[in-house]
Amino acid sequence: RKLGYAVVGLGYYATRQIMPNLKDCEFAELKALVSGTPAKLEKYGAEYGIPKTHQYSYETYDRIRDNPDIDIVYVVLPNSMHAEYTIRAHQAGKHVMCEKPMAVSVAECQAMIAAAKKAGKKLMIGYRCHFEPYNLKAIETVKSGALGKPTLIFAEHGFYAGPNQWRLDKALSGGGSMMDIGIYSLNAARYLSGEEPVEVSAMEYTDRSDPRFKTVEDRIDWQLRFPSGLIADCVSSYSSNHNHYRVTGRKGWVELEPATNYEGQEMWTRLEGKREQVVLPKPAKNQFVRQLDHLPECIMSGREPIVSGEEGLRDMRLIEAIYRAAREHRAITLA
Ligand code: NAD
Repeated sequence: RKLGYAVVGLGYYATRQIMPNLKDCEFAELKALVSGTPAKLEKYGAEYGIPKTHQYSYETYDRIRDNPDIDIVYVVLPNSMHAEYTIRAHQAGKHVMCEKPMAVSVAECQAMIAAAKKAGKKLMIGYRCHFEPYNLKAIETVKSGALGKPTLIFAEHGFYAGPNQWRLDKALSGGGSMMDIGIYSLNAARYLSGEEPVEVSAMEYTDRSDPRFKTVEDRIDWQLRFPSGLIADCVSSYSSNHNHYRVTGRKGWVELEPATNYEGQEMWTRLEGKREQVVLPKPAKNQFVRQLDHLPECIMSGREPIVSGEEGLRDMRLIEAIYRAAREHRAITLA
């Protein structure tokens, strides 16, 4: 049988991306909804054929324990709620898919991993780019040695964040652009290099007279030094649009723009001086479907997800180090 997902938090990403794509999954289906807004339960319950018995509020959420149709809980709430709703799902005996950023601190990530372990259930983070064909091709290109030894990764992500949203309230977001969009530059630097950084430095600029930035940062740029000598220059912004990365080696480079969007990726390489666009065939399953199918496949085969809680924790450790480097105006050596 297909494994059943309960989606928690019926906001933009859940209703526009996750729920529609669940329809195309081979190993998964939408079985339950969790929301604090009864009208949303009614609307999406009707649209997706989810009966009242499979609709929950945040108060009745723990009763998912008694629903055998729910195998996996997908947490799509504001960042500071990820840890609580993940841990409660594990305590109810469910596997969890949790959106990025995994949580808002290293301590929370560790508590989530411990809860999964205690329950004997799997925890995966919604890093969809690990399932996106152009991103996979970029990783493969670097690994193939075609670029020569990689020396530089430049990764930039940003958008103009409009006012009055939870992303700009630190209590809900845990931080500014770094937590929300900069994490794509960070995660890409790690998956493109295939290495873990040993040193980080960072610089932040936030106009505190801008009413959007009462509690969170706007722009933060950082550098990562990897053991091979590769350096990543990374950009994160809530004031300008960026969605691009380039990996440069002695023999050439590979570049994606947009790099991590929902669709429309474009890829170029310059190898032996020749600049070329790389066009891949349209895959049968898009990145969302592949991500959503990956966790049930792992559950059924007993494998660990390629983007497990440990992967979310690694990014969170780096995010804390990046903030610290910016705050203390110094490079931080990583253990
Ligand atoms: P959103 O604001 O559209 O949805 C958040 C949902 O949480 C809403 O339904 C809201 O009602 C609910 N909620 C419950 N308690 C809340 C509270 N106290 N304050 C505010 N909202 C509350 O946000 P979104 O864009 O759907 O983001 C949700 C999560 O998904 C975030 O963690 C975000 O980082 C992640 N996300 C991931 C991607 C991706 O491409 N992987 C894209 C967008 C969002």
